[in-house]
Amino acid sequence: MVDVPIELGPRGGSPMMPDSRPLTAPPQFHVLAKPTGPICNLDCSYCFFLEKEALYPGDRFRMAESVMETYIRQVIESQVGPEITIAWQGGEPTLMGVDFFRRAVAYAEECAGPQRTLHHTIQTNGTLLTDEWCAFLREKQFLVGISIDGPPALHDTYRVDKQGRPTFARVHAGLDRLKAAGVEWNVLCTVHAANQDSPLEVYKYFRDDLGASFVQFIPIVERIHEARPELTERSVDPDAWGRFLIAVFDEWTRHDVGEVFVQMFDAALASWYGAPAALCIFGETCGNAVALEHNGDLYSCDHFVDPEHLLGNIMETHMVELLASAPQRDFGTAKRDSLPQQCRECPVLFACRGECPKNRVRRTSSGEAGLNHLCAGYLAFFTHIDGVMRLMVDAVRRGGHAGEVMTMFAAAGRNDSCPCGSGRKTKHCHG
Ligand code: SF4
Ligand code: SF4
Repeated sequence: MVDVPIELGPRGGSPMMPDSRPLTAPPQFHVLAKPTGPICNLDCSYCFFLEKEALYPGDRFRMAESVMETYIRQVIESQVGPEITIAWQGGEPTLMGVDFFRRAVAYAEECAGPQRTLHHTIQTNGTLLTDEWCAFLREKQFLVGISIDGPPALHDTYRVDKQGRPTFARVHAGLDRLKAAGVEWNVLCTVHAANQDSPLEVYKYFRDDLGASFVQFIPIVERIHEARPELTERSVDPDAWGRFLIAVFDEWTRHDVGEVFVQMFDAALASWYGAPAALCIFGETCGNAVALEHNGDLYSCDHFVDPEHLLGNIMETHMVELLASAPQRDFGTAKRDSLPQQCRECPVLFACRGECPKNRVRRTSSGEAGLNHLCAGYLAFFTHIDGVMRLMVDAVRRGGHAGEVMTMFAAAGRNDSCPCGSGRKTKHCHG
């Protein structure tokens, strides 16, 4: 399990309890369920979730049927719209075995009834995917997120098994099975010290070698001790993070808009368009993305699975009530209310929002606490993309397509001036 920013689904409306009492829960929320808790068959060096084993000493970390059914039933009860997402993550969720998920899907279908559409998602390291697994995932139309950090040498730097052995070949074999079975999949790539200086090598590998059409990049920001701000040497460097995003963005705007979806760029476009944040990290507040442990404990967020952020247990209290609770509301608004002055005055605040509070381990130049470790990278990235984002938004508002920028870049390449309107030469500007 790695740091996954939560993609907020298109859900809305008033959540309803089984007895139809409307509650004042957030208008949309997302639950990441961990049926094996933090347990994983691999031992990736940067994985923050393995240490969470200490929260439940002596536990077997297997979600009971009663918890699985309660999770599914409550998610379905809480959504009034026709689309419902059931999300699984880990640890490594496939360790539960395919039959657990067969029962989960059957139960979800029974609860949802024929009028509503279920979307099933699972995040996996891919190493345990058999043909039987893939046939099931295809039949039930799962969206499978697969964790790969680039080509073999870059992937294997930190993504190793419990014996310290590389895992790339096993991940690739799992992906091949997914593809052969026709399962919908996407790539989740963490960016860290080992691959931060190879943005195009990584991106082109996903696009050209794997044939990926949906890619998420997740920065690794890893504390040495949970209570202290110092970061490990594996953590991504802020400036390198900015350079990484810029290099991929420039490649993407030249060739791939509309063909390859890079989650970070879609989220940026939403911000420039004035739409609600598509990712929690770029939202003004938090609180709508909770984590469900194997025993029914519900936590404020996947990144805050600790005693202080335990909201309660869904076997005792409906998750809608827990989401609407004062501690969760306070957790959510703290993201906005704790922003340092430097962020409040920042020209790209509308897009960045100080990113995830988990990463706010630095001080501003005036010494104020709470600045994001990745600030320099985001400032560089969002500043860099401003001109092109405006062009894309203009195109969309005119009824066109954001991909029109590729045509503009092609034309600009012939006269060497950037289409963003800056008057600068293409090679010195956004491309
Ligand atoms: S703390 Fe907030 S921004 Fe960070 S992952 Fe959780 S919900 Fe998203
Ligand atoms: S770029 Fe830096 S200063 Fe601006 S909002 Fe983001 S973290 Fe804050």
